[in-house]
This record gives sequence, structure tokens and C-alpha cells, in this order.
Amino acid sequence: MNTPYLLKEPPVILVVDDDKMTRQLLRRAMEKEGYQVVEASNGEECLAAYPRVKPHIILLDGVMPVMDGFNCCTRLQALPGGDRTPVLMITGLEDKLSVDRAFEAGASDYVTKPIHWPVLLQRVRRLLKQISLMEQLEIANKELQQLATSDALTNIANRRRFDEYFDLEWRRMAREVLPLSLILCDIDFFKAYNDTYGHLAGDFCLQQVANAIGHTANRPGDLLARYGGEEFAVVLPYTPSTGALELAEKIRQNIIGLKIEHRGSQISPYVTISLGVSSTFPHTKMPPSTLIAAADIALYQAKAQGRDRAILNPFED
Ligand code: GH3
Ligand code: MG
Ligand code: MG
Repeated sequence: MNTPYLLKEPPVILVVDDDKMTRQLLRRAMEKEGYQVVEASNGEECLAAYPRVKPHIILLDGVMPVMDGFNCCTRLQALPGGDRTPVLMITGLEDKLSVDRAFEAGASDYVTKPIHWPVLLQRVRRLLKQISLMEQLEIANKELQQLATSDALTNIANRRRFDEYFDLEWRRMAREVLPLSLILCDIDFFKAYNDTYGHLAGDFCLQQVANAIGHTANRPGDLLARYGGEEFAVVLPYTPSTGALELAEKIRQNIIGLKIEHRGSQISPYVTISLGVSSTFPHTKMPPSTLIAAADIALYQAKAQGRDRAILNPFED
């Protein structure tokens, strides 16, 4: 069988016609092409079958009892995924009004009865090809989106995604009058780590640290991002300062618990991190950067006080 499209399974065609003979002819023609066929005998049956069958294409008769094809096509558009499923209208009505009605109702194409089979088959093939191209485009878009928002080394969110998410959550928390917290994490003596073990080992260390932080801050709204070279940021919506400080402490313990040897560290035989925590009830008159600056000050204090610790900057809380 020659398949000019890239759909994974055999395409499923929902054939809707009140005339049994026409349905059988359509079924035969479609099955000959290698498609799967499901039948319905009026608009209501079509709408009922649609969510279960999830057809790639619907071949829809215009004139049927109970619910006609035009009405059915309009109603299909409102179902989940319905506006993305091509409807090919097949009807004896050739007048301009009927054709216009079909396209207004959301049909992708229109053929008249008596069916000219080679034309119908070409149209179905073309619609399948379009679906396949759309699918490929969606996959490519998702991949692009993933590339644009994630950090290649650690696979977590990148700085761009952080900025976008932090801004969004700032405004959301302001609207809902809820607390937003931020943790900035910085690996201690990381320059010495690179100098001792080399950059590749440094990269691997960054991956392990990112992984461990990600496993610790794992509530649905939490976002871990690579903020800079060896700095990570954790955005914590719905989280007050006490919760954020507790989480920061847990992260600190989990990192030292990884027991990554660090001979270059002046304070521990293992890799440690320092954390700056800030927390507030955002309001839109204040820029989100105020919370970042506050966490940065706390991080600086954590470094100055000896590293391997989490410090909270109370900041308006
Ligand atoms: P401190 O305890 O005060 O944080 O000291 P530090 O040495 O960690 O701080 P500093 O900012 O001086 O050094 C950060 C180092 O992180 C320097 C840089 O080479 C290293 N670094 C940044 N990005 C990467 C990366 O992607 N891979 C590796 N291997 N190292 C990185
Ligand atoms: Mg740093
Ligand atoms: Mg550092």
C-alpha cells in the first residue's frame, strides 16, 4: 500500500450518511486505500461517536434525517478537537447556498453526489497529508519551545524561562493576594572545583546539583531554573517565608548529602551550596526585581557568614 502521509496508525474515517448503500460504497472505497472506517447514519450519531472514534477525517452527508450534515458540522466545531478534524461534505446539493453553508459550518472541502470516486480519493489523501503536516509542525514547534526555554547542560528551565515565569507568578500572586518566595542557590568554591577536577567534572557536578534541587522543590507551581553559571533560582508561588526557608534548608542538606568530593572547598570535604531566600506578597506597583535583589542580598550574607547555609531576607514580610 502506498501511504503518502506519516500518520502512525491507519487513518480512521468516520462515514456519516443516512443511505446504507452509500455508506457501504464509501466504506469499500476507503478500506481499499487502507483506511479504517466507522459508520454513523445521521448527525446525532456522528456527534455521539466522535469523542470515542477520534476520526482523522469525517465524510459527512449534507441531507439526513434527525440532524443534517450542516447542523452536525457546526456542532462538531464546539467539541474538543472538533475544529481540527477536517470535514468533507458529500451531498447532492450543488447550489451556491448549500456550498456556502457547508464552508460556513466549518467544512474543509465539498464534493457532490453522484460521487466522482477518483476526485473523492484525492481529496481525502490531500486532507490526510494536511493533517500529517500539521502534526509535524506542532511537534517541531514544541521542540523549538523546549529548546528556547531550557538549559542545554542541565535540562532545567533557562534564564529566559525564569524571567517569564517569575513575572507571570508575580502578577498572579499580586492578583490573588498570596505570597511568592524565591531561593537563589550558588555552589560554594566552584571555581576551585573546576580547577581541581576540570570543566567536564564541573559540568557533571552542575547536573547533579540541578537534579537534586529539582527533586527537592517539586510542588506543581515550583520552577527551578539555571540562573547563571553555577547559580540556580527556585520560584515558589503560594509559599510564605517560613516554608521557603525550610525548603532552602532541605535543599542545602540534600546537596551535601550527595557527597560529591570537593578537595578545593575551604569548608567541607563535599560540594556545598549557599542559599538566599526572599519572600513577599507581591503587588503590581513594585517590580519583580525587588524580590530578586532581596534574595541576592541574603545569598551574599550566606557567603559572608561562612557558606553552606540558607539565609532569609525578611523584606516587607
Ligand atoms: P563562592 O563560594 O563565593 O561562590 O565561590 P565560587 O568559586 O563558586 O564563585 P565564582 O563566581 O568566583 O566562580 C564561579 C565559577 O563557576 C567560575 C566558572 O568557571 C564556573 N562555571 C560557571 N558556569 C559553568 C559551567 O557551565 N560549567 C562549569 N564547569 N563551570 C562553570
Ligand atoms: Mg556565582
Ligand atoms: Mg559559587
